[in-house]
Amino acid sequence: MFTKTTIIGLGLIGSSLARAARVHGLAHTIACGDVSTEVCAKVLELGICDSATHDLADAARDADLVILCVPVGAIGAVMETIAPALKPGCIVTDVGSVKQSVIAQVEKHLPAHAAFVPGHPIAGAEHSGPEAGRADLFNDHWCILTPAQQTPASETVAAFWRAIGANVEIMDAARHDLVLAITSHLPHLIAYSIVDTASTLEAHTREDVMKYSAGGFRSVTRTAASDPVMWRDIFLHNREAVLEILQRFGEDLTALQRAIRNGDGAALEEVFVRSRDIRRKNL
Ligand code: NAP
Repeated sequence: MFTKTTIIGLGLIGSSLARAARVHGLAHTIACGDVSTEVCAKVLELGICDSATHDLADAARDADLVILCVPVGAIGAVMETIAPALKPGCIVTDVGSVKQSVIAQVEKHLPAHAAFVPGHPIAGAEHSGPEAGRADLFNDHWCILTPAQQTPASETVAAFWRAIGANVEIMDAARHDLVLAITSHLPHLIAYSIVDTASTLEAHTREDVMKYSAGGFRSVTRTAASDPVMWRDIFLHNREAVLEILQRFGEDLTALQRAIRNGDGAALEEVFVRSRDIRRKNL
């Protein structure tokens, strides 16, 4: 599909994309750019790309496709660095978990001769770094694209994701940010917060929490092992949508708290039955 594909940020997602592009033969050359020289050395050692450098502009030079895989708070600075090196007709895309902020950051620096197609694969793991990547990470998972309009560039990016096994959905960026605030961002906030609450218990209680963690704690808090910088950036860059969802969630939680305090079993059961049925039917 491409003569040269450049991936900037070789963590879990970037290194998975490099592996997938190679396995499916989608690029003649795969170049990598990462601020960390250790990460560059590691991806060369893993043999998942043809070149790797901490000079991001150099990595992006002459690429037909550039995929930004850095934390969402770093996208604007990365774009500013690589913009002068982008060749005419280059397509830039990204994998950031927030879309409206990323679009604003990229468009500020995007040269008129390049096209940007915002994207977000709904696939991942709580592990980070280049060794955590897998070529089949996106297989049978959604990839949401949020271009302002469908263009040849957005069709090319959609074809790339389909070629590595993903199902592509086109969505409005604001809608993406609200949907992801409830399906992904709120659950991660809850996971981090429960572990933090448990960590403040007295030592003997805390030990018992860890010992008997199979009882819900382990499954609900799995994602608290995720990368803190990535998640810090997601909450800072999807502030409005997350605050709106948190407001609603807080109200619903308060209603449950009141039902427990009042011994209102009927109210509790009503919510639990409704939630169980939705969970069983849809997930
Ligand atoms: P990750 O494993 O932590 O990798 C991020 C990589 O980017 C690291 O190698 C990091 O280097 C590098 N980096 C950080 N700042 C940079 C900069 N300014 N310039 C160049 N490289 C930089 O993170 P990830 O999980 O792959 O996430 C990457 C992106 O994918 C994020 O935008 C995230 O929102 C999105 N995403 C993640 C998931 C998921 O489940 N993890 C799912 C979908 C989308 P250092 O290690 O040296 O900081």
